Amino acid sequence: MIVLKFGGSSVADAACMRQVAGLVKAALPQSPLVVLSAMGKTTNGLFEAAKAAEAGDLGGAMERQRKLMASHRKAAEDLFAGEVPEELDVALTDLFGELELLLRGVAMLRELSPRSMDAIASLGERLSTRIFSAYVGGAWVDARTVLRTDAVFGEAAPQQDAIRSLAAEHLQPLLGPGRAVVTQGYIGATEDGLTTTLGRGGSDFSAALFGAALGAAEVQIWTDVEGVLTADPRIVPEALPIPELSFAEAAELAAFGAKVLHPATIQPAVEARIPVTVRHTQKPEGRFTTISAEVRTGRPITALASRGPVTVLTVSSSRMLAQSGFLARLFEVFGRRGVSVDLVATAEVSVSLTVEAGMPLKALIKDLSAFATVEVNEGRAIIAAVGERLKSTPGLGARLLSSLGDINVEMISMGANEINLSLVVRQEQGDEALRRLHHVLVGGTP
Ligand code: ADP
Ligand code: ASP
Ligand code: MG
Repeated sequence: MIVLKFGGSSVADAACMRQVAGLVKAALPQSPLVVLSAMGKTTNGLFEAAKAAEAGDLGGAMERQRKLMASHRKAAEDLFAGEVPEELDVALTDLFGELELLLRGVAMLRELSPRSMDAIASLGERLSTRIFSAYVGGAWVDARTVLRTDAVFGEAAPQQDAIRSLAAEHLQPLLGPGRAVVTQGYIGATEDGLTTTLGRGGSDFSAALFGAALGAAEVQIWTDVEGVLTADPRIVPEALPIPELSFAEAAELAAFGAKVLHPATIQPAVEARIPVTVRHTQKPEGRFTTISAEVRTGRPITALASRGPVTVLTVSSSRMLAQSGFLARLFEVFGRRGVSVDLVATAEVSVSLTVEAGMPLKALIKDLSAFATVEVNEGRAIIAAVGERLKSTPGLGARLLSSLGDINVEMISMGANEINLSLVVRQEQGDEALRRLHHVLVGGTP
């Protein structure tokens, strides 16, 4: 069997859904499991409605609810030429009734817990899959019966053993050549049946989890670009599609900001050794990316990704000089304060680290100040150059750095796996730095 995942822009309206239905029909001989995101900007709309309700603005929340209802009804009516099947009509009415109840509850209490937010957010995928499965004539499965997670609402972690046995029970019997099974990305449930989500963009992750649980031959991520490109096309318009990527490269790119894949997507596929392809829904015959264990990339750098804003902390202490245990002490504080570190660079008497912007740092800095001085620089961006051949290409670092010209590099770190060279620059220079580095990448010698 294969898994086909379609993102929000691929199912944004009736015309898009028709295109997707064509692709699903073409895949019928391969026993497809279809994993859908919410339509277009629905998830953002649900977040906005929930936030309005939390602020006590029930009118605003209801206004957004009505807008979502109108766009979903319109898609259903367009697909069925005005003759929406009764079963679908009832399902949509029920789902919007559920949304209204949830929003009223939030507005009444003026309290929006991550748990309530997940219940509200789940409506997006439940709506899109109802409409699509009615149209394509596939079986509809509630992902929450299969995608078991822990109870960390908003960013739940999947429980892969449970998912495997639940998939065998609830999905396997429905799958087969000539049939499509349709389910939701992004959402799951705890053992107690409470609705959870895997974090924004989590549908890719769902697709990989379902694929791993079912032993899929391939996981296809259908989106609005011709695969993974050499850089984010919104920043670097001349970015090119990458035909082949290694699992490790894809994981680094996702972690360092390439929105095209959810950062955790790759892991279940890697473990199950399932190839992942990234394809353009509107250009199915066009170029695409295959992510697999075997790599045949020609260039030293495969792609660039950037992420920001981040904060750089520089921790200095003369005690570091010829002292053992300083780093252990330093990281113990980060661990205890629950602040996760992305990049690290060490010098003789100082250590620089990057952390996500907006992290609560007060307590951490107080603890560190007991044995070191701490300098905080906000508003920085990380740019990561990723490639399996980075480590074996002499002179590359020099070429990259010299391409940046007058852009000041504040920190450099080469990942221990040696496929990621990361630079930190000021956030406002991040896009320009990315473009200059991309020029080296594309113009660079193989
Ligand atoms: P979907 O809704 O299908 O999940 P996303 O918007 O989450 O799609 O991801 C696709 C988008 O990711 C692209 O439209 C592109 O703007 C962005 N993107 C960022 N970096 C890259 C990259 N390196 N390659 C391709 N797309 C990228
Ligand atoms: N609909 C969810 C989101 O917008 C999940 C996804 O699209 O992957 O974040
Ligand atoms: Mg996405």
